[in-house]
Amino acid sequence: MLDLDVRSVILISGILSLLMAVVLFFLRRNYPPTILGLREWAMAPAILFLATLLFGARGTIPNFFSILIGNLFLLSGATLLYLGSQRFLGFRPSVRLWAGAVLLAMAPLFWFSLVEPHYGVRIGITSGLMAAVSFAHALTILRHGPRTFSTYFTATALLVLALTQTLRLRSAFGLPAGGGAFDSFQPEQTAYIAIYAFAILTTTIGMVLMATDRLRGELEHLATHDSLTGALNRRALIEAAELELARCRRNHGIMALLMIDLDHFKAINDTHGHPVGDRVLVDFVARVKNLLRQPDRFGRFGGEEFVALLPETPLNEARLVAERLRAMIEANTAELPRCTVSIGVSVSRLDDAGLDNIISRADAALYQAKRAGRNRVESVTALAQ
Ligand code: GH3
Ligand code: MG
Ligand code: MG
Repeated sequence: MLDLDVRSVILISGILSLLMAVVLFFLRRNYPPTILGLREWAMAPAILFLATLLFGARGTIPNFFSILIGNLFLLSGATLLYLGSQRFLGFRPSVRLWAGAVLLAMAPLFWFSLVEPHYGVRIGITSGLMAAVSFAHALTILRHGPRTFSTYFTATALLVLALTQTLRLRSAFGLPAGGGAFDSFQPEQTAYIAIYAFAILTTTIGMVLMATDRLRGELEHLATHDSLTGALNRRALIEAAELELARCRRNHGIMALLMIDLDHFKAINDTHGHPVGDRVLVDFVARVKNLLRQPDRFGRFGGEEFVALLPETPLNEARLVAERLRAMIEANTAELPRCTVSIGVSVSRLDDAGLDNIISRADAALYQAKRAGRNRVESVTALAQ
């Protein structure tokens, strides 16, 4: 590798960046706009590609372009990658601040490339800044990214980049004053550029993986949650209940099911309008989720009917939970129309043929609660079945 000539290495690096820019541009076009940061992630390798064009043209175009603007593009590209990650992770970085910082770095670079050329100082400044940005970038991803393979993959690539740029900074102390033309380039410097090219390639591949992970998460959420209230949808809730029931059978355990229906909800819609009815539902779900414990699951069964699944909960405990829930909704002080709920409670039994039996009993208990005047809790034992 050390025999590779520097222009070829720069060219390969540029082609790799360009390829990744194309991939990321397509990702940005096809992925939902809720995934932020893709624009910066796509623009950055395109800018890095332009940087390699300018670096590669060294000697054939004025140094102002090949060195100064080339380095401006290099630092801008690395910074933009970092800004993209910040946005991806939910931060709102100040683009102006970062642009200002990059421009500020141009002043000494201008001096040491055009006024008093010194190759060593120049390499020292750019590799020092590249190392700092890559290191900060890796830390941000590690601290704020999800604990997934794609996070560690991207952070590792950035740490490799930071490390090699630090080594390059160290090597810069031995470099001479003057222009540092390509024909006097040490093989070691060419190796640094080659490692840079692969580190950028790996980082951007990591970003593709991170975006794909995020998309999968969003699709999974869409497929399992109700879009209005954010509660589980019917399918996901039934799936969770089936799993829990199987666990109960294995361990001779018991689970409880609360069938919850808002009372006279039609009247709320008729009096205040459908949008207010929607807000009542959203508020209701937020309150219930707040009250339930961590292993409990809560889902929308349809319309204004909801189900809470309480693992490892016997009937008397489940009734207490239901009563607490009913009282909390009754005492609602939000600036929304008051409403109450009726709740039917049932628990699993060893002789149940399936989940349907438990649901039917909760349904029957709910019906009983409605008949008995609403805003109350009924359970299977009260039905003496
Ligand atoms: P009961 O006490 O017997 O349960 O009376 P109810 O009025 O709550 O029951 P009913 O089944 O007659 O009416 C349910 C209403 O819930 C009718 C329907 O328009 C409303 N509804 C269902 N889904 C939504 C929704 O997503 N948003 C709003 N705003 N209303 C909904
Ligand atoms: Mg109702
Ligand atoms: Mg109903």
